[in-house]
Amino acid sequence: MAITAARGTELRAKGWRQEALLRLLENNLENGENPDELVVYGSIGKAARDWKSYDAIVAILKTIEEDETLIIQSGKPIGVIPTHKKAPIVIMANGNIVGHWATSAEFYKLYDQNLTMWGGLTAGDWQYIGSQGVIQGTYEIFKAIAREHFSGDLAGKFILSAGLGGMSGAQPLAGVLAGAAILVVEVDEEKADKRIATGFLQKKTTDLSQALAWIREAQAQKAAISVGLIGNAADIYTQLLDSGVIPDIVTDQTAAHDLLYGYVPSNIALSEIAQLRKEDPDFVIDSAGKAIAKEVAAILAFQKAGSIVFDNGNNIRTQAKAYGVDKAFDIPIFTEAFLRPLFERAIGPFRWVALSGDQADIQKIDQFLLKNFADNPIVTDWIRLAEKNVPVQGLPARICWLGHTERSRLAVAVNDMVANGEIGPVAFTRDHLDAGAMTHPNIMTENLQDGSDAISDWPLLNALVATSSQADLVAIHAGGGGYAGYMQSAGLTITADGTKAARERLLSAIDNDTRTGLLRYADAGYAGAKEEIAKHEVRRVDL
Ligand code: NAD
Repeated sequence: MAITAARGTELRAKGWRQEALLRLLENNLENGENPDELVVYGSIGKAARDWKSYDAIVAILKTIEEDETLIIQSGKPIGVIPTHKKAPIVIMANGNIVGHWATSAEFYKLYDQNLTMWGGLTAGDWQYIGSQGVIQGTYEIFKAIAREHFSGDLAGKFILSAGLGGMSGAQPLAGVLAGAAILVVEVDEEKADKRIATGFLQKKTTDLSQALAWIREAQAQKAAISVGLIGNAADIYTQLLDSGVIPDIVTDQTAAHDLLYGYVPSNIALSEIAQLRKEDPDFVIDSAGKAIAKEVAAILAFQKAGSIVFDNGNNIRTQAKAYGVDKAFDIPIFTEAFLRPLFERAIGPFRWVALSGDQADIQKIDQFLLKNFADNPIVTDWIRLAEKNVPVQGLPARICWLGHTERSRLAVAVNDMVANGEIGPVAFTRDHLDAGAMTHPNIMTENLQDGSDAISDWPLLNALVATSSQADLVAIHAGGGGYAGYMQSAGLTITADGTKAARERLLSAIDNDTRTGLLRYADAGYAGAKEEIAKHEVRRVDL
């Protein structure tokens, strides 16, 4: 049975805090890549351990009181404890394994025994809002590249990438919004069809020369276009290189973090891979590692030939290096190269979901932002583009990069709109890829200026802060590439239901979340964080 999120104002749970979490869980599956297997995105990023767990979570969310807390261990509900009305409704930890055992092999073993699951960033904690979730980040990267390398404009420029899955499916639309001609290679035609159906991709072909003809035509006319090419990235990147086609920008967002269930190697047919994963996992892993090495070697050659290249957060360089590409880390990570100036000021991907299911609620919030953040071009440029171009997927939602106090200002205003009856209740959340919330030394925290890249105290503190600051849901995740051992992160969700108590929760949880982001970056010595701390009178202990 297909799961869809409930809409409207009728409560099935004992309050909006509980109902919101239930709708977000359902929404994850409504938008999911493989909902039958509870997979939301990122090859095996799941919303619950198994269907028994899912049904139990749903039943508990319908009956849990506001002064109780449900504990979830890697997608499996393990108990409900008495707490108090300011405590979270749900706390969870997904995919955590202690350091020495934190390897892919150990993860796959525990996963096969159904003792753990991978929660991605927003799958396990029900914060996924479809491909839109990463779209502004990708758009901001393209715009930053435009400013730095192409006089501010990507018209007539050619972007090459790969992956049209749950998150990677945002790339074609982000490329088009940035004005470019973007070609995205995808091995699974059904994924390309899904992106066309949801409005994230314009057209597809299985023929490389046809794809290039469309791209060249658009470039000549300085028109934006997105083309999906059905093929294997390792092969296509090499073919393009061999025939002297050098794109202006090259990246990849296939699920390269996972050699077994994610990246599809070119020597294995898509129709055979599911069986081989069971029968000969070592062969699949080794083949994927070698194919990634071939693809990354091509990306490095593109870089040498003048393309702007970057790692788009899928740990592809780490995998390539392990398979012999010594110079893989000559490819810069997008966070360090383009987004750190925003993160150091705790500006990051904030999100909200209209629980009523009514797109008009999102439009009213868009209008509020355009009016009240008129002097902030990151907000206004994006909202103008998003309201015209970003399709609705599942419960209507919006992402917008906002900073300390900006997020809570918006959330409190939205809570007032809910109280006035202008809109229905709204859930607020954010990506784990946020200032205080993630340690990933090959993605979020690569080359921090104080060298604290691998310290995972920060996201753990962030989750503790959220739990003591009245968030409705708090999650601690691990994984990030080869699953265990690469990443630690934290997430939170808070619902604006129009009450005074919600206003207090929103202010406390959201501001303390960005406060910890500023404290983390100030501790690492970043000037932007120190400026924000002084401006907002954040109480920092500066030793
Ligand atoms: P997904 O599994 O939903 O999609 C990945 C897609 O890549 C699939 O459609 C798959 O068919 C395709 N693919 C696999 N191997 C291929 C190959 N050799 N050639 C062409 N296509 C191939 O995963 P997703 O949710 O789209 O995430 C993709 C990656 O991006 C993951 O590693 C994820 O962790 C990472 N990610 C990064 C960010 C970020 O902030 N930059 C955000 C979200 C996800």
